[in-house]
Order: sequence, then C-alpha cells, then structure tokens
Amino acid sequence: NIKNETVLEIEDLGVSFDGFKAVDGFNFYLTRNHVHVIIGPNGAGKTTVLDLICGKTRATSGSIKFRNKEIRGKREYRIVREGIGRKFQNPSIYENLTVFENLEISHPAGRGVIGCLLFRRTPEILERCRSVAEEIGLLELMDTEAGILSHGQKQWLEIGMLLMQEPEIIMLDEPVAGMSVKERAATAELIRKISMNRSVMVIEHDMEFVREIADRVTVMHLGKILAEGSMDAVSNDPKVIEVYIGH
Ligand code: ADP
Repeated sequence: NIKNETVLEIEDLGVSFDGFKAVDGFNFYLTRNHVHVIIGPNGAGKTTVLDLICGKTRATSGSIKFRNKEIRGKREYRIVREGIGRKFQNPSIYENLTVFENLEISHPAGRGVIGCLLFRRTPEILERCRSVAEEIGLLELMDTEAGILSHGQKQWLEIGMLLMQEPEIIMLDEPVAGMSVKERAATAELIRKISMNRSVMVIEHDMEFVREIADRVTVMHLGKILAEGSMDAVSNDPKVIEVYIGH
C-alpha cells in the first residue's frame, strides 16, 4: 500500500561532538501521508537529528535510508534534490520580491548558476506558482511584496518555497513560534494539508499544537529516544511525564 509506505528509515543514527554524544542510537521511520513530531526538552538532540537527515551535520554512526536508498554522507544540496526540504525557524524569503517572485525563484528549473541564466518563465512554472500559492493561502497576495506580509504569512511563503521543489519530506523547525492564535490554527490546517501525498517532520514545543497535528510523536531526551507512539500514548508514559515534570 503506497499510502502507508515507509519513506525514511533510520537505524542506530549517532553523532558525537568532541566525545559528547548529541544523538545516540536513534531509530526512526517516517510513513507517507504522516505528520511525525519530535518533542523533548532543550538540548535533547532534536535539531541535530534534522541536521543529520538533511546532511548539514555528518553522522558518526548509523544509516539513513530515503526510499530504500542510503543517503547518509550525501551533501546537503544533493539531499534537497533527492526530495527532502527543510525550513528553518527564521524565514529566508526575499523581502523586496513579491510572493509570486519568491515562489518562482524557488522552482527547481532555476537551480544553480546555469539554471539561473537559462531560466524562462514557462506556463508550467506559472501554473505551479499559482497552485502552491493557493495551497499556502496566499493566492490573493501574489503581487504583494514579501516584506510587508505578516509574520505568519512569511512562514507560509517559506513553506511554499519548499513546496515548489516538490519534496517528499518536509521538515519544519518550530513552525508556529511567534504566531497568533489564528495563524497557528491556519498553520495546523496547512501542515495537515501538505502531509497528503508527502511526509512532514516537525520539531515543536507547544504540546497543544503537537496534539493537533501529530500522527506520531517521538520523545527525545539527552540524545536518545525516550518514547514513541501516538500523542496519547507518549503523554501517558511515566518516563515522559518524569522528564517534563523534572523540567
Ligand atoms: P534540541 O534541538 O533538542 O534543543 P540540539 O540538537 O540543538 O538539541 O542539541 C543537542 C546537544 O548537542 C546540545 O547539548 C548541544 O549543545 C549539542 N550540540 C549541537 N550541535 C553541536 C555542535 N555543532 N557542536 C557541539 N555541540 C553541539
């Protein structure tokens, strides 16, 4: 069943920084159409796990298989091309370009120096920008300068820029940080929507928001996995309760 296919399979992943094990024995699988949230106290290793998957940090042990192919050790830009897109906390949109232009320059056809030079606005690219703008709820604001968008709209635009690359996995780092209640609700809806036919991995601190979006949750603590399962299962796990009360 393609719907429940495992897109990412991680075994015994680990990294040490000067002998300090920031991530240790990390086992994980990501299912298509699922939103999988990683939670855990500060310093648990959540960001490092995403860094390892997207090739920003090199693992010292383990394996990362994307669609059954080993990607551990590949360069960051190669992993993006394979279909894993990452959004960081601070948006990297171009403030003086319009919403449309931000989406357009994110199209894979414009990649690299050659891509940039040869880039032509084709009907396909226009259509793709429109459909992504619609998906992120910014269709009406296509010609608006990105710099004057609200905080939430900027975050959605950046998600749209990732979607332009047609990734299979989207990784989001604290997507609702600094958002209003209304923006958070819209973001929850957007995350649910983009997980259809794709997989989404999220790092999040806000438990109420995690409950809204997560199909599965992995709890990390001190570089290791403490618990894994549905939000209900992990939030009733005594080990998890102890760590959260301890903080
Ligand atoms: P989280 O995202 O859960 O807050 P991180 O993954 O950022 O945790 O960090 C896990 C641990 O690894 C922390 O103790 C952090 O100081 C350490 N760490 C992360 N990256 C590096 C690095 N490049 N060099 C040294 N230590 C690091």
